[in-house]
Amino acid sequence: MIQESFSLKKYNTFGINATAKYFSTFSSIAEFEELLASKKLITHNSSLITVLGGGSNILFIKDVDGLVLKNDIKGIEQISEDENYVYVKAGAGENWHQLVLYCISNNLAGMENLSLIPGNVGASPMQNIGAYGVELKDVFYELEAYHLTEKKVVKFSLSDCGFDYRESVFKRKFKDQFMIASVTYRLNKKPHFNTSYGAINQELESLGVRELSIQAISQAVINIRRSKLPDPAVIGNAGSFFKNPEISTAQFESLKNSFENIVGYALENGNVKLAAGWLIEQCGWKGYRKGDAGCHAKQALVLINYGNAKGSEIVSLSSEIIDSVRSKCGVTLEKEVNII
Ligand SMILES: Cc1cc2nc3c(=O)[nH]c(=O)nc-3n(C[C@H](O)[C@H](O)[C@H](O)COP(=O)(O)OP(=O)(O)OC[C@H]3O[C@@H](n4cnc5c(N)ncnc54)[C@H](O)[C@@H]3O)c2cc1C
Repeated sequence: MIQESFSLKKYNTFGINATAKYFSTFSSIAEFEELLASKKLITHNSSLITVLGGGSNILFIKDVDGLVLKNDIKGIEQISEDENYVYVKAGAGENWHQLVLYCISNNLAGMENLSLIPGNVGASPMQNIGAYGVELKDVFYELEAYHLTEKKVVKFSLSDCGFDYRESVFKRKFKDQFMIASVTYRLNKKPHFNTSYGAINQELESLGVRELSIQAISQAVINIRRSKLPDPAVIGNAGSFFKNPEISTAQFESLKNSFENIVGYALENGNVKLAAGWLIEQCGWKGYRKGDAGCHAKQALVLINYGNAKGSEIVSLSSEIIDSVRSKCGVTLEKEVNII
């Protein structure tokens, strides 16, 4: 059923009350094709179509004068295996964390560090989701996507997706061109534990874990995330609003003269990655609130909607933050959240 003038408030974790001109859900590629062909929705302009997952990485800054189509394609299946790996195919509308739990309960390793990331399977390749030292690309095998105007299904391998830090071809080169229908992941039969990042080891210790397992790592990650990140069910947000910026070693050395406590992670390409949240905090934004738009009091990287903020208010706060970080630190922050 196609609904008109549909409120998207419950369909984005920021809780922004934007309205979609047309809204529908679909649970198969055939249903998606039918919607695109329906008289009401027919369009040859793919930018009028927004494919929605869990709405946890989106900021609506105005009403959507087009079609919002929520992907509800379901199904999780082990499709094949070889000596070392099991290949799991999931429909784009499956909840990401439920897929992680499915893999863990089947002793399939690789996703445990990505536990509790909000959103659905279909968006996981969009920005190559990552957390606690693991990225989606580490478990990705291939995906199937439907080309909105050529009206055909295309397969993308790992190398086709152009994965990078919070990036893929679907965010840039092929923006608005594909509906991701399913993703196949390659999971390890034998786990390679990754506990080097963040407070995982500390949390494992306080859980009293003696023998490392994917279950234990997942639980540690879940506990850390629950203690650190605001729950969108309680307060509107989309997780990290900005990416962690990458700068040259020379710029890092000169920043150290002004900010002696600055923390940087050396990258393989010779550059240094900075913590965007730390830079924002240095500029005094942590805990800031203007109307219902604000910067979280515990984690400055997360912008929040206290209730009735408009998307435009959140985005203008983000611009003020970008300007002040640039003028105080000489670093330009880039948004991670998709502005629609
Ligand atoms: C509290 C919190 C914590 C978070 N922590 C992390 C984290 O640790 N790491 C991380 O990487 N992200 C994190 N995020 C961001 C977010 O959870 C992920 O980016 C997630 O993958 C978004 O999934 P979604 O289904 O909600 O996508 P949506 O917000 O619905 O969509 C995101 C983008 O993808 C497009 N899209 C969605 N589905 C499809 C599809 N099937 N086909 C084509 N395009 C599609 C949308 O049009 C939009 O541009 C966090 C968010 C929150 C609220």
